[in-house]
Amino acid sequence: MTKIGFIGLGNMGGPMASNLVKSGMEVTGFDLMDEAIKIAESNGIKIAKDAPSTTVNADILITMLPASQHVESLYLGKKGLLEILDKETLIIDCSTIAPDSARKVAYKAKERNLRMIDAPVSGGVGGAQNASLTFIVGGHSDNVTKAKPILERMGKNIFHAGNNGAGQVAKVCNNMLLAIHMCGTAEAIALGVKNDLDPSVLSEIMRKSSGGNWSLEVYNPFPGVMDGVPASRNYEGGFLNKLMSKDLGLAKEASESSNSQTPMGDLARELYQELMEQGLEDLDFSSIQKKYLDL
Ligand code: NAD
Repeated sequence: MTKIGFIGLGNMGGPMASNLVKSGMEVTGFDLMDEAIKIAESNGIKIAKDAPSTTVNADILITMLPASQHVESLYLGKKGLLEILDKETLIIDCSTIAPDSARKVAYKAKERNLRMIDAPVSGGVGGAQNASLTFIVGGHSDNVTKAKPILERMGKNIFHAGNNGAGQVAKVCNNMLLAIHMCGTAEAIALGVKNDLDPSVLSEIMRKSSGGNWSLEVYNPFPGVMDGVPASRNYEGGFLNKLMSKDLGLAKEASESSNSQTPMGDLARELYQELMEQGLEDLDFSSIQKKYLDL
């Protein structure tokens, strides 16, 4: 039986690890939060006494942590996991972190003859629960091939974006574009509404015209236009402003370190930063609509 070590059993990691158990794998996990451990244990995940203990006899080690600093400190810090991991264990980091950080950890792993890939996800908590995540993977193709059967138990689409760090770059590009077209969509609807148009009629016209995009198609930001989306339940649930803000920060870091021009991404980042400053960090990212209209 394939043995998996899993560190970070939060909103995403918890259900992902649970799907591995459901598919017949032995998962030994660890988290710093008691609540996360309690839920994981009730879902059949064996709980290790600390992070290093999850790696014992593991064929695969998966990490799903909040941000770059957590990943770097776990792998590279004092008594970091790279010091103790077995050469046979394949490391899969699914956290969304800075591409430079992913490359740095993978490079250090390679120095120690360890194999590592970055595999950030798209699809949110729902995707983690339903095993329908999209994995965007960076790393050597042999390692990606080895990881694929495991990732397929937690997701539906697996893309190989390129070398180490490429998964993070692709994820950051996608989420920057998502923020830009969500802001643009909210702005256009607000302009129409302020000029006496019905938001549903305008949305349908743009959806079927050259302004059509994913936000108009499945995630309309204006309340009441579309059933079942966060905009129609006071922007609760969904993809939170704090996560979008984090991803736009990563886009900014990536653009600076690669000397890229991202004026639209920068502006979207500022708009989301304003939402954060208004205390709206726990609303869905389509609540950017609020900036344009008093909702
Ligand atoms: P979360 O905060 O719910 O879970 C992270 C968990 O990691 C926490 O339970 C925390 O206690 C644990 N942790 C931190 N440091 C640790 C350590 N050293 N050892 C053990 N456990 C440790 O976050 P999440 O929503 O599960 O997100 C995880 C990652 O997935 C983030 O990088 C996020 O950007 C990304 N992501 C999240 C979503 C989403 O909708 N939530 C969607 C796509 C990607």
